[in-house]
Amino acid sequence: MKKYIKNLTITELQEYLVSVGQPKYRAKQIFHEIFVGRINTFDEISNIPKALRQKLIEDFNLFSFKSTRTQHSSDGTIKFLFELNDGSAIESVLIPCEYTDEDKRNRRTLCVSSQAGCALDCSFCATGKLKFKRNLTASEIVDQVLAVEKQTRHKLTNIVFMGMGEPLLNYDNVKTAVEILTNPELQLIKKRKITISTSGVTPKIIKLADDNLPVKLALSLHAPEQELRKQLMPSAEKWKFDKLIESVEYYYKKTKTPITFEYILFEGLNDRAEDIKRLSKLAKRVPTKVNLIPFHTIEFTHPTGFAAGLKPASKGKIQWFRMELLKNGVQSFQRTSSGLDIDAACGQLALKSQVQIIQQ
Ligand code: SAH
Ligand code: SF4
Repeated sequence: MKKYIKNLTITELQEYLVSVGQPKYRAKQIFHEIFVGRINTFDEISNIPKALRQKLIEDFNLFSFKSTRTQHSSDGTIKFLFELNDGSAIESVLIPCEYTDEDKRNRRTLCVSSQAGCALDCSFCATGKLKFKRNLTASEIVDQVLAVEKQTRHKLTNIVFMGMGEPLLNYDNVKTAVEILTNPELQLIKKRKITISTSGVTPKIIKLADDNLPVKLALSLHAPEQELRKQLMPSAEKWKFDKLIESVEYYYKKTKTPITFEYILFEGLNDRAEDIKRLSKLAKRVPTKVNLIPFHTIEFTHPTGFAAGLKPASKGKIQWFRMELLKNGVQSFQRTSSGLDIDAACGQLALKSQVQIIQQ
């Protein structure tokens, strides 16, 4: 079976070239043509021998997706639906810039997926309802970026792993993708302009710190203590609160990169004065900013039990929560709900059609 060339690191491509009797230096030429030249077929690589071009065609696929569909929101958000070669499907979301200052106005952020589905089944998340299908390959992760740039004819400036799946449970492929995307010679995305969002896979947060990948880390905290967190996120049973916080402290000590806490506000559950007190204490242990996320309801997945009782906190409550955090000296922001009308907001990526199929 043909391999996907973008799954290879440059060292692996060099090894392949040596195995077919070619010099190592051609790996750089080929990488350059794929990621900078954006060739459509291996035949377009004019600076390598014809026989090698032919060999690449025989041994490798260049693109990961069978098809791409888009959906446009009235607020400028675009959702991309990619069909993978095994028939699975994933989504990425191009988020319009929310800022007005010069420096940030040209920001173009793509929210990418790391897995088809997700095994962790957080009570509030539509992706979790799809269950886990499989890890995405590095090629499938990088191709989300390349396909969106090709279609929109604009370069992306920021990447967030906040689409479908838990990136730290697909560590090796995410790492390869990050290495390709931040390779200085390819100039795809600048270092630290990639954010990995995790639901809290403690051992992999430690590994991320040790590997010193050039990314930023966001932790989906959502509760300032173990018991409530466990109700919201069953994976907290395995990766317990205290050890998790220790792991982000370790991450900061090693990388000197501040962490973001993601915090969805649920009415009457985690939006109380005592939650502010606990959250403020935590945010002082590690240099952190807190992103307050409005809860995007996922009625289309027909939640039951605890999940069915989850309600979004009101706008006024979110503002109050933010002000109280600021009073306590905690940097805090309120995230918008870009793409709500096309189910492209945080946590809504679940391919509505697939949810309907599962429930039939
Ligand atoms: N698995 C990773 C990354 C994908 S989820 C993680 O959990 O961090 C990306 C973000 O969307 C997370 O912060 C997640 O908590 C949030 N999210 C999930 N469902 C949501 C919903 N219904 N409303 C608002 N945010 C949601
Ligand atoms: Fe998976 Fe993240 Fe959704 Fe939880 S919030 S189910 S970890 S994608």
